[in-house]
Amino acid sequence: MNKTLRKAVIAGNWKMNKTPAEAKELLEAIAPLVKDADCDVVACVPYVDLSVALETTAGSNIRIGAENCHWEASGAYTGEISAPMLKAVGVDYVIIGHSERRTYFGETDVTVNKRVRAALDNGLTVILCVGEYLEQREQGITDEIVAMQTKVALQGVSEAELKRIIVAYEPVWAIGTGKTATAEQANEVCAMIRRTVAGLYNAQAADGLTIQYGGSMNAKNAEELLDQPDVDGGLIGGASLKPEDFAAIVKAASR
Ligand code: PEP
Repeated sequence: MNKTLRKAVIAGNWKMNKTPAEAKELLEAIAPLVKDADCDVVACVPYVDLSVALETTAGSNIRIGAENCHWEASGAYTGEISAPMLKAVGVDYVIIGHSERRTYFGETDVTVNKRVRAALDNGLTVILCVGEYLEQREQGITDEIVAMQTKVALQGVSEAELKRIIVAYEPVWAIGTGKTATAEQANEVCAMIRRTVAGLYNAQAADGLTIQYGGSMNAKNAEELLDQPDVDGGLIGGASLKPEDFAAIVKAASR
């Protein structure tokens, strides 16, 4: 497996944080700190922040993403936002299947797949989140769970479309808890995801797939995690709201 074949991507997941004015301020603080990054830098922000985020980062190396999208283009889905709507405002990336969506909003592998399809059909790049709960890890079924999530999410996705997929391995027990997977644990599962994708497509397609780790990645532990052969970047929650910390992670991915 050749890590140099893949693009390192550091993406912030702001979750339900920051008003438009605060988003502008945060992005203005981050932009100069990451301008020389030798990796892709993405900020996934709340829907109401998208326009100001796009304006603020125009001409910079920061790309903007949303945190979810619906699978239909339009219709009676109160409170939802569609992939064509995101594309229309100029968004490039969308997170799909985040564990908080799965846990609190009834997202399933099947609806994740439908959202992935809609995002791809509308020219977006998907950050597809997969990961096990603590009980599943303790039961020794992490690989089965994560492989199944990956396979269902990628159903009907062509090899050409796979180039617009980034997989984020996020053990649920490590998200927002301060408990990071060890570098070895993170790499093991990322490597397993790559083998799963090789089985679905082929070795070349799997070798080119960017796989991020997410779960309490921070300025201190980023280097060790990102040094792992199958970890190609990070999906960053809490630390993405702190400019210096986020920039330190981007720097660690740029080495
Ligand atoms: C996330 O929300 O995807 C995440 C990884 O959060 P945190 O970094 O805060 O654990």
